[in-house]
Amino acid sequence: MDQTKRVKRAVKSRLLPWFSENKRSMPWRSNRTPYRVWISELMLQQTRVDQATPYFHRFMQRFPSLKSLAAASQEDVLKMWEGLGYYSRARNLHKAAQLIVTEYKGRFPSTADEILKLPGVGSYTAAAIGSLAFNMNMAVLDGNVIRVLTRLFADDRDTRSLKIKNELQQLADKLLVKGSAGDFNEAMMELGATVCMPKNPNCEACPLSRCCLAKQEGNPTDYPKKAPKKKVPHIIVGAAVVMNSKGKILIAQRRAEDMLGGLWEFPGGKQEAGETIEECVARELKEELDIQIEVGEFLVTVKHAYSHFTMELHTYFAKIKSGRPKTLECQNFQWLERSNLRNVPYSKADLKIIEALEKR
Ligand code: SF4
Repeated sequence: MDQTKRVKRAVKSRLLPWFSENKRSMPWRSNRTPYRVWISELMLQQTRVDQATPYFHRFMQRFPSLKSLAAASQEDVLKMWEGLGYYSRARNLHKAAQLIVTEYKGRFPSTADEILKLPGVGSYTAAAIGSLAFNMNMAVLDGNVIRVLTRLFADDRDTRSLKIKNELQQLADKLLVKGSAGDFNEAMMELGATVCMPKNPNCEACPLSRCCLAKQEGNPTDYPKKAPKKKVPHIIVGAAVVMNSKGKILIAQRRAEDMLGGLWEFPGGKQEAGETIEECVARELKEELDIQIEVGEFLVTVKHAYSHFTMELHTYFAKIKSGRPKTLECQNFQWLERSNLRNVPYSKADLKIIEALEKR
């Protein structure tokens, strides 16, 4: 019997019963509606289950239905997403909710083509929504599934290649148990998350161990083939907590098209060659808001790692020497009382500046 048939048989006879006995309790697994599946799948794309769970509860409390989400402001949606990262997910789901209300009269689209057309929905999310909410025979392929498949088949090809990913997708489609697509997908992902883990796979507890080629070879952690680590650039950024005579603080809103678009920040930007941080802060505020500032006391340095660069953000107190703020390189600005700073959404790095301010 070939390996695909062997695995397919074990998936049906062992993996699905294992999943039904061992599945973890998660809030989106009860009261399963397309809306709840969609939100949870978007949250889980870059976030662990334990981190996503409180966000999911808060989000559902604030936006219990697709219509309430569509009627909200983008800022409210970003506030609910604050700290989860990859904010384009929040902006896209807000746009998609509005589109569903206008184009589909508020009913979640129920064909694969329609789901794929929603902003921010790629093949993974479409397969997850299709299978979990509408029981369509669509297999998902995420990092967990890729790890399980490459180990089961001792496949050492480069999984970053689109061609190999497409082949793995076809393999997942072949293994899918028709009529139980939702359970199949969740079982594969659950196996990857709780048993076939990246560093310490628990092969002794694995329902698929008898047909796993990597287990037979004794080298599961060789799969999937590791990509050599890329060196990411490191940038130095300066920012200012500008206070006026009444103690209010100036914050700026990032432009929609920029990274972290729509979020609020303490104004500032990247240090250029040959300038000190203080000079960088003064230049950036002139460029961003058209104000001349006097840079004062140092507040805090925040270190943060994004997927494609790392950042060191040095923050200083400042006051305006001349000029009135204008939206030159930002979408908006406002003066807020210190106690109201948390009313609007920020990136994680700016939240750390607020924490430093609160400790003063
Ligand atoms: S036997 Fe081990 S390596 Fe193979 S799928 Fe199970 S946990 Fe992963």
